[in-house]
Amino acid sequence: MSDCLFCGIVAERIPAIRIAETDRAIAFMDIFPAAPGHALVIPRVHTDDALTATDEDLAACLQLAARVGRAAVEQLGATGVTFQSLARPDAGQTVFHLHVHVIPRVAGDGFAFPWPHAEGDLAELEGQAARLRMAL
Ligand code: 5GP
Ligand code: ZN
Repeated sequence: MSDCLFCGIVAERIPAIRIAETDRAIAFMDIFPAAPGHALVIPRVHTDDALTATDEDLAACLQLAARVGRAAVEQLGATGVTFQSLARPDAGQTVFHLHVHVIPRVAGDGFAFPWPHAEGDLAELEGQAARLRMAL
């Protein structure tokens, strides 16, 4: 897509600090890092998010993300890695070309997730699971 920021990075119209590439995916540094070593992995072919991506591009992105995560453990001293991909504005997505965040983590880094960790109601969980199963 000509007006897509990350398609611009794929086409090298927009500069990026690349760290790894495969035939389907590219990894580069996030320009507003949430932690040292924060990288993004994207498919070469445009797709808006994980909900619209092909199985092949999803697999390629997660495989490359895992490689980048292992490199962060080996080289940057990460003791954990957060893999994250947001889909659609209500989930917080801001760039609408599928990307997997690879965020190196260490104990006590203060990187917090906003969701509440309250135990779910079992009947509600069963009902939601039944509806999801119908669609799968
Ligand atoms: P999202 O909020 O959609 O999950 O993540 C988009 C990510 O893209 C953000 O973490 C943001 O820092 C990163 N980003 C936005 N513009 C650019 C850019 O021009 N270059 C790079 N390398 N990263 C960008
Ligand atoms: Zn794109």
